[in-house]
Amino acid sequence: MPLSPWSCTNCGHWQRWFAVPPQCPVCVDVRNALPEDGWEIRSFDDLAAGREARWAEVTPGVTGFWCEPQVGLGTCGWVIETERGLVGWEAAGLYPPAAIEELRRRGGLAALASSHVHGYGALFQLQDELDPPVLAIGVRDLEWTKAFRVTWPLDDRHEFAPGLVAHRTGGHFDGHMVLHDEHRGVLFCGDMLKASFDADGRPVGLSAHKAFHAQIPLSHQEIRDAYAVIERLDFDAVATPFEYAAGISTKQVLALYDRLLSAQPLAGPIPLEELS
Ligand SMILES: [Zn+2]
Ligand SMILES: [Zn+2]
Repeated sequence: MPLSPWSCTNCGHWQRWFAVPPQCPVCVDVRNALPEDGWEIRSFDDLAAGREARWAEVTPGVTGFWCEPQVGLGTCGWVIETERGLVGWEAAGLYPPAAIEELRRRGGLAALASSHVHGYGALFQLQDELDPPVLAIGVRDLEWTKAFRVTWPLDDRHEFAPGLVAHRTGGHFDGHMVLHDEHRGVLFCGDMLKASFDADGRPVGLSAHKAFHAQIPLSHQEIRDAYAVIERLDFDAVATPFEYAAGISTKQVLALYDRLLSAQPLAGPIPLEELS
């Protein structure tokens, strides 16, 4: 069987393999849960059947792309307009043809990047279809990138365009990066933050964690390292690998970190009203 892409239905991670892959490295990692009833790993064509693209502008110049029904955990691919062209950050679990056509219509991607492996989604597909000149990932996370080819391994800081800068936070993963849109005041925060929402979709809580599924907190030193990065970034909205949350600001994130540093660290959400 030729080398082809396969996705773990438990988490959505894509691998290229020459048969059904024996396991999923992301599910095997301590941060994630193993599937209860064994592996279900499906080929691209099998998974793509019957799925549709959805995209929406969440704030002027920032569009999220999703796949429905969702693949894996349902990640979102952000596309950010800059004076150097479109920058893709994270990726949807899969891109149906209409999404690829839409990205081509917009002129393709000048660069593509992601915070860490849980945000990669079908990044490999965007590289195969659109071939952006830059595919950038934190160099310390290179071991997770085998489904695609990193053309620009990142150190601690990288400017994709004026006002659009990636910073390494470490923590959740050693090479974890966040992307700061200085002009729009948005932090593409990867999994360094998680917002919880009420029934009407309003953000009501905020958490930081080493492992969300396993509920392992960040260590105090990891929080101090992230603090030193975040305190220099001005934002009033965050975009996780899943959703856009307006109204979450630098001040609230630093208040969360202060809270986690004050005692035994927690992985669960702290109510936003306690962080204002
Ligand atoms: Zn998996
Ligand atoms: Zn993650």
